[in-house]
This record gives sequence, structure tokens and C-alpha cells, in this order.
Amino acid sequence: MRGLKKAMRQKVRQQSPEERRKNFNEVSLGLSDEQAKAEAKRCLQCKQPRCIEGCPVGINIPAFINLILQDKRKEALVKIKEKNNLPAICGRVCPQEDQCEKFCVLNKTGEAINIGALERYAADCELNRDTGYGIRDTGYENRNPKVAVVGSGPAGLTAAADLAKIGYQVWLFESLHIAGGVLSYGIPEFRLPKVIVRKELDYISSLGVQIHTDILVGRTFSLDDLFTQGFAAIFLAVGAGLPQFLNISGENLSRVYSANEFLTRINLMKAYRFPEYATPINIGDKVAVIGGGNVAFDCARVALRLGKDIELIYRRTEKEMPARQEEVENAKVEGVKFRLLTQPVRILGDKKGFVSGLECIKMELGQPDSSGRRRPIPVKDSNFILDVDTVIVAIGQRPNPLIGKVTPGLKINPNGTIWVNENLMTSIPGVFAGGDIITGADTVISAMGAGKRAAAEIDKYIKESSE
Ligand code: FAD
Ligand code: SF4
Repeated sequence: MRGLKKAMRQKVRQQSPEERRKNFNEVSLGLSDEQAKAEAKRCLQCKQPRCIEGCPVGINIPAFINLILQDKRKEALVKIKEKNNLPAICGRVCPQEDQCEKFCVLNKTGEAINIGALERYAADCELNRDTGYGIRDTGYENRNPKVAVVGSGPAGLTAAADLAKIGYQVWLFESLHIAGGVLSYGIPEFRLPKVIVRKELDYISSLGVQIHTDILVGRTFSLDDLFTQGFAAIFLAVGAGLPQFLNISGENLSRVYSANEFLTRINLMKAYRFPEYATPINIGDKVAVIGGGNVAFDCARVALRLGKDIELIYRRTEKEMPARQEEVENAKVEGVKFRLLTQPVRILGDKKGFVSGLECIKMELGQPDSSGRRRPIPVKDSNFILDVDTVIVAIGQRPNPLIGKVTPGLKINPNGTIWVNENLMTSIPGVFAGGDIITGADTVISAMGAGKRAAAEIDKYIKESSE
């Protein structure tokens, strides 16, 4: 641990709060070349690196950091891509503080290596250069048998890429008109620019994966149809995109949005550029966003950029918020106001059917519940009315139910997730599932971890079936 005190973690450059609250451009500007070198130099190159254990796809972290230190940025990216097909995305949105960085020995000094920023740096150097490597990776021969992947979020993309690299002919079906899952429709431009998602998708296509959008499996085709069309196995990666509501009166009023609808209009349909783009977004001037997770913070920061006054309403305190600390701090300095220990009980409407206010009750914290966080308890006679004209409900998502409903024999768990065995195979032989559809709403990298495992299991299944 010699010399640790001097080696401070490099801070990533950012747009200033005053600037960024007026635009949708990326907040984080990444590390400069000098900063990346300085950060890479801090890595101790541990003989038994614990950071790798904390990465759900097992990137050889010290090895790629060492390559950055030697100015071998392309080689660093090759090293990362041995395990991770979407590094420019993961470097931006992974909660590294709970994963690889949590295990870094330098945590003892409070200054873990900024692994996410270095991963982004290696990926961006190639993507920005546009020389091709980061975008195309040819040389894989995709032959029969065919494998169908349903859903193009991080789980589906990862499985598709790994299967294509093994040599399968992969068809990826996506119900929306743009691929990427939450990466495209959910996470806003200022955290994950869509040009980055497009470049990563180009890379997946370059491996030979055929991406077919506007196809809703369960309606356009059934799983039986896919087997009849000659697919040897199917991977279901349909995510958890079903919004949850509060079930309080007034939720059917105009200008009440689910987080999903609000973010999809903005991110996928570019409603913030209406009328240049066809889809509008109808919100008032005073917006209440309900929730304390990443999704709620994304909604609040989007609405702020539309020039609105934002209150984020959360029933516990800041300490219990599930959102990443970095996003909480970003929202605060940008001007999102927090109303903590508060629970909405009724949405009020005017004669035309629009939101005219939000009745809330104050809360206090009791004993910890099953999540380990202290349970919020209503304070008697503490109701009050907030003057808002728009409400965005961001209290969580549930697994997409369609395929389970229309597929006889596909076992669904009581919480709506698809049942899988230890090999990620569902109750139907040859049909596998992974990502949020089996775990409930989780993270990009855990969905990618599931995609990786599923690809290996599908390969094993197809090889054993043809013996
Ligand atoms: P998804 O990304 O949900 O993709 C599923 C895809 O399947 C979708 O494109 C959907 O349209 C498609 N689909 C569904 N049904 C069908 C069908 N029947 N036929 C064809 N296609 C279908 N995680 C992080 O790690 N960091 C973050 O910063 C972060 N921020 C988030 C912000 C928001 C707003 C949201 C909603 C989530 C966020 N998450 C974050 C969570 C993360 O994005 C998800 O855990 C991850 O995307 C799950 O991946 P997936 O592949 O399982 O599903
Ligand atoms: Fe480097 Fe930290 Fe990993 Fe050790 S644990 S190899 S210091 S990143």
C-alpha cells in the first residue's frame, strides 16, 4: 500500500450544472488522455485481483488497465471485448461502485480505481476514431443451426453476439422500431448518447446477427412458429417493461404518465424535439416525479431539461434511495427539489380531466422491512396538497407478461418472472430465458451476465441435441 496517499482518483470531467440543465447532451465528458494515464498508473496490478470477481462478465480489469498505461488503447479494447460486447455502454451506466470498484483493494483508502471511466475511455477512443475496429469485427462465419433471440436489450444483445461468435446464425427479434431495449428507450441521452448505442449495435450486426425490429413475438409469431421455421433454440430476453402504478384515485387523469411512457416519448420518439419529430409530450409547468430509483431520477432530470419545475417525491429519506449516489448528486446540483418522507394518496383533477394537484401524507420511518430498509409509516392527520399539474409515476417495472400468457407450458413464477432451471432453460425444452424477465428489474451488466451464460448453455444444448 506504499504511495497510496498521493494517488488520488481522477475525477471525470462534466458539463457544468448551469449548462447541462438546458440541454440533452451528455453530462459526463469522460477522462482526458492524461487523466486516463494517471488513473491507469494508480492500479496496483494485484496478483489476485478482486475487481474481476466483482464484474458479472469477468473482464480482466488489471490487464486492460495496464494496456491503457502503455498507450495500447486498441489492445485494451480487445481485452475488454473478450468478455464484454458493449463496453462503451457499460463504462457509462454500470453501477461500478457496487460491482468491480467495490472489490478494488484501493477502497481501503476511499479512492478505488475509476474502472468504469477507464472502460469508457478505451471504448470511446476506438468509437470516436471511426476506423472500424470498435464498429466492425468480421471473420466470424455464421452457419446453421439458427437461434432466435427475443428482445434486444443488453441480455439479448450479449447472447446474440456470443452465439454469433461461436458460429450460429442468430436472428434477433425486437418489438419496437429501434433495437437496444432500455438502452434506447429508457436511459436518457444525457447519460447514454444514442449514437453510442447505435455504434455498439453496429458492432453486434457486424458479427452477423440479423436484427429484425417491429416484431412482437407472441403476436407476430408464437414460439411454436419459430421452431417450425427451423430455429434450434430460442432465448427470451424480453425484460421488465410493464409499468407499476400507485393504484390511487386520479391515476387516469391527463398528464399522469408512467415513467416508461414519459421516457419512451422522449428517448425513442425524440418528443423534446417536437415538431421536428412527430411525437409530442404534453406536460405542464410543475411536475411531480414519484419514486427514488434510477428511473425516477431519469424522469426528473429529463423534465428539468424541458424547462419545468420538478419535485421528486419519495416516501423514505435520501439514505434509503435505491438510485446511484452519482445520479442523486447530479440531480441535486441541476436543481431537482426533493420532498422526502412523503407518500401520494390521491391525484386531483380539474373539470377538463387534467391534473390539478397531488394530495400527499407525511411519513416517518419505523423498523426495517424485508428489504433491510426502515419501513415508512404514515403520520396521522398530516395530509397536504401539492400544487402540481403533471405527475410521473416511477415506482418500478414488472416483467413483460405477453409471452407467458400466450405460450402453453411456459412456467411463470408468482411474481411474473419466467421460471428457469440452473441452466437458464425454461419449462419448454430448447427455450431459454435471462435478464430482467427472470430477475425482475435489475442492471445492465447483470442482464449481460445472463446473456453470456445463456449463450454458453444454448451452445451446449444444441450440441448435445445433435449428438
Ligand atoms: P430490456 O433492456 O428491457 O430489453 C427487453 C427488450 O425486449 C425491449 O427492447 C422490449 O421492447 C423487447 N420485447 C419485449 N417483449 C417482446 C416481445 N414479445 N417480442 C419482441 N421483443 C420484445 N441499469 C444499470 O445498470 N444502470 C443504469 O443506469 C440503469 N438505468 C436505467 C434507467 C431506466 C429508465 C430503466 C428503465 C432501467 C435502467 N437500468 C439501469 C436497468 C437496466 O436497463 C435493465 O436492467 C436492463 O436493460 C435489462 O436488460 P434486458 O435485456 O433484460 O431487458
Ligand atoms: Fe487494480 Fe483495484 Fe483491480 Fe487491484 S483491485 S487490480 S488495484 S483495479
